[in-house]
Amino acid sequence: QSSEPWREFDRSLVYLADLESGLHYLLRVELASHSTLEGAELQVFKDFVTLVAKLYPGGGSVVKLMETLSDWLLTLPLPKIPYQAVLDLVDNKMRISGAYLGAELRWVGCQSSRAGLRGYPCSLWTLFHVLTVQHDARPDALDNTGLEADSAPVLQVMRRYIRTFFGCQECGRHFEAAAASGLKSVHNPEEQLLWLWQQHNAVNTRLAGSLSEDPLFPKAPWPSASVCPSCHEERNGVHVWNRDGVLLFLRRHYGAANLSPRYAA
Ligand code: FAD
Repeated sequence: QSSEPWREFDRSLVYLADLESGLHYLLRVELASHSTLEGAELQVFKDFVTLVAKLYPGGGSVVKLMETLSDWLLTLPLPKIPYQAVLDLVDNKMRISGAYLGAELRWVGCQSSRAGLRGYPCSLWTLFHVLTVQHDARPDALDNTGLEADSAPVLQVMRRYIRTFFGCQECGRHFEAAAASGLKSVHNPEEQLLWLWQQHNAVNTRLAGSLSEDPLFPKAPWPSASVCPSCHEERNGVHVWNRDGVLLFLRRHYGAANLSPRYAA
């Protein structure tokens, strides 16, 4: 990663290249260690694919590919699927027109100053922030998927994906503990996107100064006051977040209009 040329980017934007690289890694690398998918694992994977097919913004070639994968998984009568069959679909061996997911890692907002940092975990956070904001903008998008009855469907799918497939097991344990105690208080899409923001900040605080920190991207409460003055306020001399300011900022930052196609396939 660090041997690649640095890609200039704007920290106020979210890059589709990071989302696509993350999905490429998830589907072609992380999942590849599971030679077959069955039972609970298969269900978690199906729900993840459905979620992305319904909520990934833009309606482009990635959505088309995820829709194809989702339709195939949902109509398949098999209780057990070889990973190779999933890969053939991801590689679009059926040549469905307009369906495509690039097969390379091209980190932009998630690139690092040194190999082994950032990249995939950064893209996964980014993807789920985007999905929570999309669900808030289009709550009906999950109708008739089986996910719509849940009050925090994006977080529940994320929780199950992380627990089942995410390579960092320590992360999985931490996230599961936070979800088990915290998701009960999430009742709607707005609370869902705020919960993920807050949880991500809790992780930033825990990891500040740790070995996984890239010095170019120090872990700190986000967004900073210089990026979002209206997210911060002082009450009785104590710093507090301004809920409305944070909501507005998250909706804009992770909203479809702020996704840059630069460097994307
Ligand atoms: P990341 O934390 O990955 O953030 C990516 C980008 O998101 C930032 O550059 C910023 O633009 C934006 N951002 C930052 N904070 C917020 C926020 N609060 N809300 C919205 N956007 C924000 N690593 C461990 O070592 N131990 C763990 O227990 C652990 N748990 C994890 C749990 C999950 C679910 C995930 C996805 C990752 C976890 N990681 C853990 C990895 C870690 O959180 C970072 O992803 C990784 O260290 C890379 O950090 P980063 O600098 O790219 O920033």
